[in-house]
Amino acid sequence: MSVSLADILAARKRISGTVIRTPLVPSPHLSGLCGHDFLLKLENTQPIGAFKLRGAVNAVFSLPGDVAGVTCCSTGNHGRGVAYAARARGLRAVICMSSLVPQTKVDGIRALGAEVRIVGASQDDALEESLRLCAEEGLTEISPFDDPLVIAGQGTIGLELMEDRPDLDMVLVPLSGGGLAGGIALAVKAANPKARVIGISMDRGAAMHASIKAGHPVEVEEVESLADSLGGGIGLQNRLSFALCRDLLDEVVLVTEEEIYRAMQTLYYEDRLVAEGACVVGIAALQAGKLPKPEGPAATVITGRNVDMQVFTQVITGADVMLGDLTIKGMPYGA
Ligand SMILES: *Cc1c(COP(=O)(O)O)cnc(C)c1O
Repeated sequence: MSVSLADILAARKRISGTVIRTPLVPSPHLSGLCGHDFLLKLENTQPIGAFKLRGAVNAVFSLPGDVAGVTCCSTGNHGRGVAYAARARGLRAVICMSSLVPQTKVDGIRALGAEVRIVGASQDDALEESLRLCAEEGLTEISPFDDPLVIAGQGTIGLELMEDRPDLDMVLVPLSGGGLAGGIALAVKAANPKARVIGISMDRGAAMHASIKAGHPVEVEEVESLADSLGGGIGLQNRLSFALCRDLLDEVVLVTEEEIYRAMQTLYYEDRLVAEGACVVGIAALQAGKLPKPEGPAATVITGRNVDMQVFTQVITGADVMLGDLTIKGMPYGA
C-alpha cells in the first residue's frame, strides 16, 4: 500500500465543494525575521477550524453507501472532521478521545451530532476503544494519519501551496502522526524536488521524531503540551505515514513549550490570528533560530484554531500556564 500524486489529485476532486481552498497570506513581521517572504496557509478558515477536514472528507466520501457508521480516535480535530463528513453523508459517527483533549474540541464534535467516548489518558486508549467498536458494532475505523485516503486528503494542501507559490524553498509542517507532513511532502516534492519540507514537533512526546531516529516506530510517553493536537504515538504497526516522513522530510525540528508560548503571542499580536499551539511550531522554530537557512520564500500551515480560550487568554496576556507537571513562566509579548 502506498500513496501517490494521483491519489492526491483524486482527493482534490472528491473534497472540493465541501472543503475550502484556503488562502496563503504573507506575514510582514515573520518575512522580516526570515529574510524572504514568509507565508501562512490558513487552514484555520476551514468549516471545522482545522485542516483535518480534508483527509476526513476524502476517506468518508470514499466509503460504500451501506456502511454501519464510522469511528476514530482523535486529539480533537480529526474527530471533528469525521463528524462533519459523516453528518454530510447521513452516517453514524462515534469519536473516541482521551481525557487530555480540551473540552472545546469535545463540545465541537458533539455539536455536529456525533457520539463521543472519553476513554483513558492517551491516544492508544482511545484507539483501543475505536477498534472495539469496529469489532462489536461493525463500524469502520478512519485513522487520523495512517490511512491512504486521509494522507491524500491532507496532501491537497501541498498542491495548493505549490500552485500559489511555485518558488517556495521551504515548507514548515506541524508534525504528529505524519499524515499531514507526509501528504504535503509528496505533493510539494512532485512539483519541485528541491523544495524542502521540514516537520516540526514539540520536544516532549515527539513520537515521529523518536521513531525516525530509532529507524522504526517507537512509543513515547504522552504528556500535556500547548500543542495538544500534536500528542499521541504513530502506532507500532504504522503502515504508511512513518515511511513517508522518514523518506521525504528533509529534517525534523523540535521546539520547547516556552518557544510555542512565544510563537502563539507573535501570531496573535503581529498577524492577529487566534490559533492552536500546534499551528505555531514552525513559527517557534523560526524565532528560535532552529531552522536550516532559508534560501527563498517559506510557508507554514496554520493547521487549526480550536484552542482552549482560557489557555489562549493566559498566553496572550503573558500569564503563567500550568501543563501537568510543567509550569510555563508567563512573559508579556516582546519582553
Ligand atoms: C492533527 C493535527 C496536526 C498534525 O497532523 P498529523 O497528520 O497527525 O501529523 C497538526 N495541527 C493540528 C491542529 C492538528 O489537528
